[in-house]
Amino acid sequence: MFENLSERLSGVFERLTKQGALSEEDVKTALREVRVALLEADVSLPVARDFVKAVQEKATGQAVTKSVTPGQQVVKIVHDELRHVLAGDDDAPGELKIDNPPAPILMVGLQGSGKTTTTGKLAKRLKEKHGKRVLMASLDIYRPAAMDQLAVLGAQIGVDTLPIVKGQSAVDIAKRAKQQATMGGYDVYLLDTAGRLHIDDTLMGEVEAVRNVVSPRETLLVVDGLTGQDAVNVAENFDEKIGISGVVLTRMDGDGRGGAALSMRAVTGKPIKFVGLGEKMDALETFEPDRIAGRILGMGDIVALVEKAQEVVEAEQAERMMKRFQKGRFNMNDMKTQLEQMLQMGGMEGVMSMLPGMGKMAKQVQDAGFDDKTIKRQIAMIQSMTKLERANPQILQASRKKRIAAGSGMEVSDLNKLLKMQRQMADMMKKMGKMGKGGMLKQAMK
Ligand code: GDP
Repeated sequence: MFENLSERLSGVFERLTKQGALSEEDVKTALREVRVALLEADVSLPVARDFVKAVQEKATGQAVTKSVTPGQQVVKIVHDELRHVLAGDDDAPGELKIDNPPAPILMVGLQGSGKTTTTGKLAKRLKEKHGKRVLMASLDIYRPAAMDQLAVLGAQIGVDTLPIVKGQSAVDIAKRAKQQATMGGYDVYLLDTAGRLHIDDTLMGEVEAVRNVVSPRETLLVVDGLTGQDAVNVAENFDEKIGISGVVLTRMDGDGRGGAALSMRAVTGKPIKFVGLGEKMDALETFEPDRIAGRILGMGDIVALVEKAQEVVEAEQAERMMKRFQKGRFNMNDMKTQLEQMLQMGGMEGVMSMLPGMGKMAKQVQDAGFDDKTIKRQIAMIQSMTKLERANPQILQASRKKRIAAGSGMEVSDLNKLLKMQRQMADMMKKMGKMGKGGMLKQAMK
């Protein structure tokens, strides 16, 4: 489903990874090509733009890890960014909330999107993979054929469907489904709502009424992946009007360019939970961002290589620091490493809270107005110290302090704060070092 994009990107990165050194211009050129490739895959413009910007920033800010080439490192950054664009910060995008039986799942979408088919596929999956007792009900009172279609699918996959009662409203059917699911001891019931060719108020009003009656645990929007940006627009619309919890992209077996998949999460903020890959009842896959990012880039080996190299470097660094800490050493170089790590880990508070006995300092740090900008400036101050000063910050005289502070746009008082922090850290390390070979620290750094 991402063949074209994949081909384009491999071309760009194959060239890049072969080069030993990379100039900023090399990266820029490569990223321009990435941007074009994304747009050609029908990724929305703002998403493509943000994507390239994020990669550019990360590629410029990151020190090169030894034993991998800069190009390889860029590939890894692109991979991570692809994953991020596909999944946001979700850990498990394919999972459904189906505890507290009977759990209602509302299936919504336009007519012809593959809603009924997907309802059947999902029911089959819940039954076979998760061992759930499932009930399906069609709420499409406008098309008797749609009700029959679901009943036929049910018989085919061995899943119960709610008996059809002519003349009932969608809300009445939903109530009946809820009742039957409760009394019949079902784990999950799937409600296949009526679709329209276009979004209209009647459709939305009806879905809303059904939603209010059953309070679904999941409201899954089924959209046709072949429709590219339209699919994303439809999702925005449905989410605004009724609130969806996730998306199922169908027809991803077709020759779609994949743009819908890449823009969906970024534009709507809603995860893609499943993709439909054919007409058969088992042609439904959970959406796995890692695998898809890997498939798009087709450079899994390089990604794994860079991950490994980064792990090694981190382990070496942690080991070195620990040895120093055990001896009670903590100079400005250590401070700088710590500050840099804090930036990477997103904030001081989180880092401090991981170290035992640092609660008080965390608070001081917070009170001192610690944000990324301040941390960056502190790093700049440390960078303008000489090697000797960094190793022995106590030698700093007033005149040097003035210059260092001014050079980084800070006040001397800011520098004094930094120095105080470093002294406190050094004290703490000394104490901890005495507490039995840094056992506590070792634990904290795991
Ligand atoms: P509904 O109107 O939204 O309920 O759509 P249907 O479930 O009736 O599906 C419309 C057509 O799309 C049917 O012919 C399905 O077999 C087909 N279809 C549904 N999902 C997929 C898919 O993932 N891939 C392919 N190739 N066809 C699909």
